[in-house]
Amino acid sequence: MELRKTFGRFVDGGALKPKGWLRRQLKLQAEGQAGSLDKFWPDVKDSAWIGGKAEGWERVPYWLDGFIDLAWLLDDDDMKARATRYIDAIFANQCADGWICPCPVEKRADYDMWSLFLLAKVLHVWYRRTGDPRVAPALMEAFRQLRSHLAANPLKNWGKYRWYEGLGALAWLFEETKEPWLLVLAERIRQQSYDYPSLVANWPYQSKATKWTFEEHVVNLGMVIHSELFYQKLHPESNTDGEAFAETLLANLMKYHSMATGMFTGDECVSGDSPSQGTELCAVVEAMYSEELLLAATGHAVWGDRLEKLAFNALPAACSADMWTHQYDHATNQIGCQNEPTPIWSTNGSEAHLFGLEPNYGCCTANHGQGWPKLAASAFLLGDRSIISALILPCRLETEIDGAQIVCDVETDYPFRDTATYTITVSQPVAFDLKIRIPGFAKAAEIDGKPVKTGDFHVISKTWEGTTALNVKLTFEPQFVDRPRGMSVLWRGPLLFSLPIPSRSVKHEYERNGVERKFPYCDYEYFATAPWNYAFAGKDVAVEEHPLPEMPFAEDKPPVTLSLPMVRIPWAIHEKSIAIAAPQPSSLTPEGAVEQKTLIPFGSTMLRMTEMPIVKVD
Ligand SMILES: [Zn+2]
Repeated sequence: MELRKTFGRFVDGGALKPKGWLRRQLKLQAEGQAGSLDKFWPDVKDSAWIGGKAEGWERVPYWLDGFIDLAWLLDDDDMKARATRYIDAIFANQCADGWICPCPVEKRADYDMWSLFLLAKVLHVWYRRTGDPRVAPALMEAFRQLRSHLAANPLKNWGKYRWYEGLGALAWLFEETKEPWLLVLAERIRQQSYDYPSLVANWPYQSKATKWTFEEHVVNLGMVIHSELFYQKLHPESNTDGEAFAETLLANLMKYHSMATGMFTGDECVSGDSPSQGTELCAVVEAMYSEELLLAATGHAVWGDRLEKLAFNALPAACSADMWTHQYDHATNQIGCQNEPTPIWSTNGSEAHLFGLEPNYGCCTANHGQGWPKLAASAFLLGDRSIISALILPCRLETEIDGAQIVCDVETDYPFRDTATYTITVSQPVAFDLKIRIPGFAKAAEIDGKPVKTGDFHVISKTWEGTTALNVKLTFEPQFVDRPRGMSVLWRGPLLFSLPIPSRSVKHEYERNGVERKFPYCDYEYFATAPWNYAFAGKDVAVEEHPLPEMPFAEDKPPVTLSLPMVRIPWAIHEKSIAIAAPQPSSLTPEGAVEQKTLIPFGSTMLRMTEMPIVKVD
């Protein structure tokens, strides 16, 4: 039988290369925390996956997932060699019976199989980058072993809630081998898993979680967006609809737990729609990955818009510009990142707002590195006789159709600018479709001066010869968007804008539980040094562009700013907090004179006010 077809497939090997600001961002990551964990962080450096004594479950697979893609996108030999050392060790440590995770035989019954599903995802990434012939037999044996393991040890805990994560690899193996038992295994895994479709159809979680549950866990919810899509690929005859499931889940989350960026709150469980509440970085990168898969599978451009909102806003907001520190939870309105003695979060600890090595917990340390590389790897997709520009990002694609060598170069500073130039060079005349996703954020768009539809793929179907240049021009306009509690946020194109709050940072270098925090991998608190209690005082917005900085999301050098009138209003600190704003102001009566203030991209800020009321000023 044939598996369900997808709109576009991801580009294997090293045929897609980032350029411009995107390459600089990836280089920052490579030279920052996620690119260096194997040098200093015990959970990766001394992992049980490579024979060490530290964690032998999710940390190394999480880290490799982003690190492998990053190494190949940057074509960095040193990083490739470091990734190879881990993959070699994982293959070398596989047991004769196929068991591949670092766990002694007597403890297997208690081992949470989520890490195998995650490792399967990683080994599939490794195969797509390297074509390593060891991957298919190792995974076949691991899945064969899983089949017998599950007969005696049904899925539990994380494995039960993240059951779908290995299905991408399983689908690839089935296409390679046509072994029918792989499809049966997928069915068995699903039978043992938590029934998300029923949860989504009867959504009960309409307010902030009061206790920690797997069902309300925000990272699970970010991942599960793509679950039915994966299952539907393997079992097209089943009555599930992967995209409808994803749409309904997101609609539930956006109705009750939305953030201005299009992300949903969770600390760690869903936590309502207050702009002070925040979400976990792991959930951001998992939701991005889900949306990348949905865009590639369906070709529905709206998934690209959703993805870009997270990638250009939520992801950079949760990381420092130099990519050396990250937050566990970042919030829409964030007036301090301090140690909170009585955290307002459902279950997260007092450090969840700090920027650092592993504030609150180390999952995001290992996992956040998949965010930028997987975005970059989604810039171009390949279809049947088509080349798909899924995201307008600066990059170069080299591919081949009917023996013709094709190079697609994209020069752009999008999302900070509104133009892009595509240069397509072919070695001999060749017919194919070029499909360019025109973002729905644009009020209008044109290619070479001719208007094109926004929020859709524009298709150019022709025989290409020599070199062709295409100029894409988008029209962005500042736009106020309503939020709960009578508040508003200000967007321009794919970028959300915030009032940056001047701050001072306090560095914390220390050691805890054998994990050292030492510059540059130390923790920081941020304290506001100026008032933050502002409201919009008008809608007359002036746009100004500035040179793109070396660090694309540096707070002191924003590539684009918006200025508009604002005014201070009474707005208290959250009653349980020392540096978190109340969800809404105490009054809309202005305090003092109107001031002209400058807003910068949300992703460039450390402390910020984003969601504010619009007040009338006499
Ligand atoms: Zn995390």
